[in-house]
Amino acid sequence: MQNILLIIADQLTFDAIGCRGNQYVHTPNIDSLFNNGVGLGRVYSQYPLCGPVRASFWTGRLPHQTGVVSNGGDYQNKDIVEQGIPTLGQQLVKAGYHAIHFGKNHDYGGLNGFEQLPREEVAFNDPDGWPLNYDSFWDEGTTRQVEHYFRSMADKTLDKPFAAVADLNNPHNICGYIGEFIGEHDNPPYPDGPLPPLPDNFAFDDIANRPRSVQYICCAHRRQAQTAGWTAENFQHYLAAYYHYIDMTDRNIGRILGSLDESGQRENTTIIFMADHGDNVAARGMTTKHTSFYEQTTRVPMIFSGKGIPQQGKWLDDGLFSLMDLAPTLCDIAGTSMPDAQPGHGYSMLPFATGEKSGQQRDYVVSQWHTEWGYTIEPGRMLCSGRYKYTRYLEDVGESRGEEFFDLEKDPGEKRSLIHDPAYQDELNRHRQLFNQYLQETGDDFLSHSWQAKDRYRSHALGYNQHTGLCAPDFEQMIAGK
Ligand code: ZN
Repeated sequence: MQNILLIIADQLTFDAIGCRGNQYVHTPNIDSLFNNGVGLGRVYSQYPLCGPVRASFWTGRLPHQTGVVSNGGDYQNKDIVEQGIPTLGQQLVKAGYHAIHFGKNHDYGGLNGFEQLPREEVAFNDPDGWPLNYDSFWDEGTTRQVEHYFRSMADKTLDKPFAAVADLNNPHNICGYIGEFIGEHDNPPYPDGPLPPLPDNFAFDDIANRPRSVQYICCAHRRQAQTAGWTAENFQHYLAAYYHYIDMTDRNIGRILGSLDESGQRENTTIIFMADHGDNVAARGMTTKHTSFYEQTTRVPMIFSGKGIPQQGKWLDDGLFSLMDLAPTLCDIAGTSMPDAQPGHGYSMLPFATGEKSGQQRDYVVSQWHTEWGYTIEPGRMLCSGRYKYTRYLEDVGESRGEEFFDLEKDPGEKRSLIHDPAYQDELNRHRQLFNQYLQETGDDFLSHSWQAKDRYRSHALGYNQHTGLCAPDFEQMIAGK
């Protein structure tokens, strides 16, 4: 039996790594995993928010099946353990593994089965002067714990294989960066040379044609509200900061892989690198992630390397995968399978990574949104069939009636929603049918939910740069006296 090392980054979008052609990041360690292995290029997060997606991928159940549909706060999630939902960690232990998890959890019981060490926060100053917070401090602690774990194996025979998870917080420190640079601000430090350019979908001139929940993300989400007043150059600084936190992530991954080498176990270890969800990277003038399903936040990197993975050094962009596939994949490597799989569960990515299978083997993947903290409730769903993406929100007022439709082949930047385009009505209707089929097959009661956002969060002129006043988390906490 081989060992498994799963490395997770938090909030890393699919193309913000060197091996995906990004020239503004320095990710030699991630690139080395890719060059010695293979990347799955079309992998989607089933909920672009930490808590819900983590509870989901540790159990192989969709967020509406786990009952974890928010990041917590005022919104009460269900607990995975109390519900008796089988977890990946339990299954790996049953398969004979030492399952151990280091770092970020935010799992609502989803990590049940894994041995979990108390997290260590190690504070330090950034040599380049960037603002650091708990995300970076926890990563330092996590990396040290993983290094210690692997180094202590050196020259020993393991009595059982390990399934270790190095769960890093970065580049999530970008959320703290915004808090440090609210509104128009002076230049933070950045390396010599030009700032990273803005993406070609930075301008959001299709906003009138988008769902109301998307139009007013600034009123529901603190980080988007805090960018009100930013200039275009401020967004370039955001990108520079984001790339800096990615560089830090990669350096920690380098240390983790170095200690794996020292353990003497590298040759017998399959390594998987992924992220839980992405980041908006200034596309449409959006930062971080909230109530939307665009490629930047839902599409994540997925790299396989090491034992059993042929060296291919290429992206397989013809498949269609989901983080729902993580648990079945790790089970496949471990020679087992998840018990009590629910409708909509994933399948193993391993045969694709080894080259045994290829192409698109499913009709669609889905992603969900309900609420971040409970201050606004904005239920939404995405269905991506590969070429096309359909989204549906329950707040079905305005021109869009709560729907979006994109042709990702012709419009990879999702600049124009095609809901009203006569040329796309047949495809749109086909996707509406697929969506209804998905709801029925998985028992998703999305249509029976209701949205909830006060008029004050739908009041200003359209555009995130038009945002005024307190956003929902700040206003609701203020009136609750928190
Ligand atoms: Zn607003």
